[in-house]
Amino acid sequence: MNNKLYGNLIFELSKEGRKGYSLPKNRFGDYEIPASMQRTQDAELPECDEMTVVRHYTNLSANNFGVDNGFYPLGSCTMKYNPKINEEVAALPQFVSLHPLQPKDTVRGAEAMCALLCKSLCALTGMHAFTLKPFAGAHGELTGLMIIKGNHESRGDEARKKVIVPDSAHGTNPASAAVCGLEILEVKSTADGLVDLEDLERLVNQEKDSIAAMMMTNPNTLGLFETRIPEIERLIHQAGGLMYYDGANLNPMLGACRPGDMGFDVMHINLHKTFSTPHGGGGPGAGPVGVREGLEQFFPEVSPYHGNFAVAMRAYSYILSLGRDHIKEVGPLATLNANYIKELLKDVYELPIDGLCKHEFVFDGLKDKLSGVTTMDVAKRLLDYGYHAPTIYFPLLFHESLMIEPTENESKETIDGFIAVMRKIAEEAKNDPELVKSAPHNTPIGRVDDVLAAKHPVVTYRKMRDEK
Ligand SMILES: *Cc1c(COP(=O)(O)O)cnc(C)c1O
Repeated sequence: MNNKLYGNLIFELSKEGRKGYSLPKNRFGDYEIPASMQRTQDAELPECDEMTVVRHYTNLSANNFGVDNGFYPLGSCTMKYNPKINEEVAALPQFVSLHPLQPKDTVRGAEAMCALLCKSLCALTGMHAFTLKPFAGAHGELTGLMIIKGNHESRGDEARKKVIVPDSAHGTNPASAAVCGLEILEVKSTADGLVDLEDLERLVNQEKDSIAAMMMTNPNTLGLFETRIPEIERLIHQAGGLMYYDGANLNPMLGACRPGDMGFDVMHINLHKTFSTPHGGGGPGAGPVGVREGLEQFFPEVSPYHGNFAVAMRAYSYILSLGRDHIKEVGPLATLNANYIKELLKDVYELPIDGLCKHEFVFDGLKDKLSGVTTMDVAKRLLDYGYHAPTIYFPLLFHESLMIEPTENESKETIDGFIAVMRKIAEEAKNDPELVKSAPHNTPIGRVDDVLAAKHPVVTYRKMRDEK
């Protein structure tokens, strides 16, 4: 996009005296603002005409990458298409204009929606009850662990303070346990990427009466189905612990199986992933928590009112529009798409754990390590071809992780196009490695210093100017 023509910052386009607004007439009469609240200097606002403002922001918005303008195979994040009907439903004035403190009998419809969504989530997961309060996946994990802690404490079992987490787990798992005041015990993975049962037995024998819970993700972060859940569940329950299911990525499970049937006691779901709310950039989200019968009395107050209501609306709209029959196709199709990509690329990208995957899988960089082209380089080069990069350098089990999740929504043509580009990049890495190492070449900015950008983000004009 031609940013140079229009300037990078709206402040740089400012010309004294230019005006692009007209305020409505004051209908309320003059109002006395206390002197202590009044500015002593004019606010530093840009002065631009309407057309400049429109072009500036339209050009900026065109630099955004989203599911609506390209393939977005970000593993573990389920960047699936968000049907527009969800947005329409969530924007209905009857819902949007609700106030959380309205009298109860004026919000029966909203209450009914929440109850029906919980009922659908119970049906899909085999849980007994759900709370919609948590605002995100990690918030759901914390809520779930508070429920588990509350349950142990209610029986006077105060010593249960340890949570077993596989080394392949999402980073939020140990973080949530720590925030909940629990200790983390890490269980190893076997060479085929599943929970190491021997290591788990050792941990359970060693820590017996102090185990509060085991947290599991299934399919796990490598996209592999944990086949030994029955043994794991028996071990943990016999030791007096509870089973926590990280259902952030429930996508592959839809229509295939249910955590409740596998013996999990508590779980969360990321509505913004599996049930289609546009997400990224920090929100919005919702992480409802489900429990087996008897644990709902421990639901804590983790947010006021009903959590992120509009995300719940979108999820319910999505569930209803797919319906009982079509929702069953989600998991199998997501799984088919992931396996198709994996099989057609594994001769050029390193597949550390071969075999069938579920909705996602992990490459360990290019097969041709001699080229010196890293996963970071491949990710940057993909941007040149108009694709969002997969998740990179996660999970931490491999050095050059490249985690791909296509979701169920993509057409065969889109997926074939992505495969062709991934193969082309592998070819470039061999014949012209510098081209890949210096990518991206067609984006408005090249490689940024990721660490500097994360640690010292410059997000205000004043800051920029002062540093010049
Ligand atoms: C995304 C994710 C989370 C965290 O969810 P947030 O909504 O980002 O807090 C937790 N676990 C797994 C497996 C995830 O993929």
